[in-house]
Amino acid sequence: MSMDKRTLYDGLNEFEEDLQKLSQNLMEMKGSLQELVEKNTTLELENQRLREHIHELSHKDANQAGKEKQELSQSRLNLEKIYEEGFHVCYDLYGSRREHDEPCAFCLEVIYRDSGNK
Ligand SMILES: [Zn+2]
Repeated sequence: MSMDKRTLYDGLNEFEEDLQKLSQNLMEMKGSLQELVEKNTTLELENQRLREHIHELSHKDANQAGKEKQELSQSRLNLEKIYEEGFHVCYDLYGSRREHDEPCAFCLEVIYRDSGNK
């Protein structure tokens, strides 16, 4: 006993609609995840900037210069880590995903500026 053609055709149509809905849901979920990850990265960067700023405000002492330099290279390492995880740390694209992990000259500028005259 076989399914008649009409039943088979209707069944496939229904299945196709379900697949399209699922695919739509999947795309929406991917979009939301991407947004969350980028938002999180942006917050991480802002948090770091605020910490640096607080540090600057509270340690204007010249004796602290060596320690500041040390902390500066620590924050550079943090930026480098975020960059290597695939996100922009440059001002324009700050926290957004680097498409296909393409290199960004502005990010590298942010991470490595002034690092030559330690
Ligand atoms: Zn960038």
